[in-house]
Amino acid sequence: MRESHERFHTSLVTNGVMLKERFPEVRRYLENLFVSLDGIGEVHDKIRGVEGAFKKTVEGIRMAKDYVETTVNVTLGSDNLHQATEMVRLVEELGVSVSFQVAYDYSTAEKMSPEKERLREVLTALLRMKLEGAPIVNSKEYFEAILSSWYGGKPWTCKPWLTINVDPQGRIVSPCYVLNEYRGEARAWEVDIEQLWNSYDWSKYETCNRCGLTCYLEPSLFDWRNLSMVKERILSNAFDYLFNVVQEPVRVVGSVVR
Ligand code: SF4
Repeated sequence: MRESHERFHTSLVTNGVMLKERFPEVRRYLENLFVSLDGIGEVHDKIRGVEGAFKKTVEGIRMAKDYVETTVNVTLGSDNLHQATEMVRLVEELGVSVSFQVAYDYSTAEKMSPEKERLREVLTALLRMKLEGAPIVNSKEYFEAILSSWYGGKPWTCKPWLTINVDPQGRIVSPCYVLNEYRGEARAWEVDIEQLWNSYDWSKYETCNRCGLTCYLEPSLFDWRNLSMVKERILSNAFDYLFNVVQEPVRVVGSVVR
């Protein structure tokens, strides 16, 4: 993580069970922290298969959020859809933000995608909460795109070429990790990535719309002509980043005093 922090803007995605114990070791290397929560109390514990996981994860979030920008990740599936709006209330109480995405049924995993009509109601409710100021980091366009495509037949243009996905063995997964289900082809350090990218036929994926994964859908929707998106995605993030840089010495002093 230290190596990553020296070169990149570094985020950690974690299930949070060990967060309270391990966070002090890594906090200085992080710009962002993403913690997965799949529900409240027993719902989360059952999905994760670990008794007490919810309590430990929330304890970790309460501690970490004072040091690093923290977002709760929620994957909406059949077992937690009924708690989606409660999750927004929970993150408000915790003082962090929340990012939602819809579960995708990979062929290699158990089916967990939510029932379609119920999902529509929940996405509509989350969009309303977002517009009312809830700390939901998905853009309003994210919810609108899924509602328009999956329920209105108007597809968004997917641009998987905006994201390079490299699997743990260093292989580039294309066109996206959904369609390739993590089967990589060429190793990142063995190929001319620019040449690979420019020779790939991306056009056939433009109307795919099979998944609503934020890592592909949000970049696909970004448009410099959309001022609210520019403000939310670029200006606010830049402001937060600068604010955190200025705050850093204060935090270090704060941790020494404690
Ligand atoms: S919609 Fe999802 S599955 Fe389809 S090309 Fe885009 S990222 Fe891949």
